[in-house]
Amino acid sequence: MSYKINTNCIHAGYTPKNGEPRMIPIIQSTTFKYDSSEEMGKLFDLESEGYFYTRLQNPTNDMVAAKICALEGGTAAMLLSSGQAASFYSVFNIAGCGDHVISSSTIYGGTFNLFAVTMKRMGIEFTFVSPDATDEELNAAFRPNTKAVFGETIANPALAVLDIERFAKAAHAHGVPLIVDNTFATPINCRPFEWGADIVIHSTTKYLDGHAASLGGVIVDSGNFDWDAHSDKFPGLTTPDDSYHGVVYTEKFGLGKAYITKATAQLMRDFGSMQSPFNAYLLNLGLESLHVRVPRHCANAQAVAEYLSKHEKVAWVNYCGLPGNKYYERAKKYLPNGSCGVISFGLKGGRKAAEDFMRELRLASIATHVADAKTCILHPANATHRQMNDEQLIAAGISADLVRLSVGIEDVEDIISDIEHALSLTE
Ligand SMILES: *Cc1c(COP(=O)(O)O)cnc(C)c1O
Repeated sequence: MSYKINTNCIHAGYTPKNGEPRMIPIIQSTTFKYDSSEEMGKLFDLESEGYFYTRLQNPTNDMVAAKICALEGGTAAMLLSSGQAASFYSVFNIAGCGDHVISSSTIYGGTFNLFAVTMKRMGIEFTFVSPDATDEELNAAFRPNTKAVFGETIANPALAVLDIERFAKAAHAHGVPLIVDNTFATPINCRPFEWGADIVIHSTTKYLDGHAASLGGVIVDSGNFDWDAHSDKFPGLTTPDDSYHGVVYTEKFGLGKAYITKATAQLMRDFGSMQSPFNAYLLNLGLESLHVRVPRHCANAQAVAEYLSKHEKVAWVNYCGLPGNKYYERAKKYLPNGSCGVISFGLKGGRKAAEDFMRELRLASIATHVADAKTCILHPANATHRQMNDEQLIAAGISADLVRLSVGIEDVEDIISDIEHALSLTE
């Protein structure tokens, strides 16, 4: 039976048999028992499927990964301990020392640091292009050693919308896959594979968990990218892996499973960024209401954005659901049912007004988080980016007055009253 996405949020990934637990069971065990070392040996050789050590794979995690895989419409998926781990593995699985990757410049600050500083130190070079780059600019960024293109469906915190179809076309014309971080949109609002993306990742810490309860990441493969057709670029997938007696991933596991099997067998084995089965259980609880929560986040954010845009003390509002926003038209194409619950705005009183305003909020909490049930707010110039001066902030696309508001799923009238009250006390 195939079901619609709303049903898959609840049922995909686990179907209990007669007498089995109704909820996904938490297999809180590091290790798994076998009757013979011969059977164990086959697992180590990737000759048979099964579990032997939770650093590589765990049944609870795999059930939850299978659910997210169904939501995105992929062929294989894996959970990781964080979104950062997912970003790293997704690229490092196909790019190494001496390689080059193209990334949208408006990406999450943590991902930017991972790419521009840490992975650069590992010998991988990144070129950052505007999400609004022309085809010429995009094509000019490719080099013979380019291995992937990376972008975010809706960028955190710039809220730029990626032209997924155009970025995918450019990537494919140069024989490399497009990796999309779909954290802010979620598969409820956008499924990047339908627009040509090849790999999707998430920080599941955000909407997928949805309650600020557990940190995690996920990588999903569409199974559409033909590694064999570009085997000169991706020998790791198309030539023998000596650490598994010469297994060739595309040959043994097919295009649908090669990429995720390699990331599990090599990267998870060696780096061990495993999500705990208990976190995976919490993530699954969140997923069961994803299709109900996301539309509410979007409706609340739309109402708050409209309220703010009419307020005399507000200088500007950035939300792609507002007509006139730079990404309004693109959002209509990729996000016809809504974008996300995150808004950014600035007050006419600038940085000082932002601080005063936030101090007066009662319902919205000041937190370094976004995308959970509770409305929260952050002033990046005073928190995540506080080491930067005003000039550096502008270069990073974050003005000193920028306030990032993650609209929760409380009653929208209460959220707006809280903002109204705080604004009334702000100069
Ligand atoms: C938070 C976030 C990440 C990093 O995820 P963690 O789970 O915090 O490691 C990556 N990408 C986006 C878009 C994010 O919002």
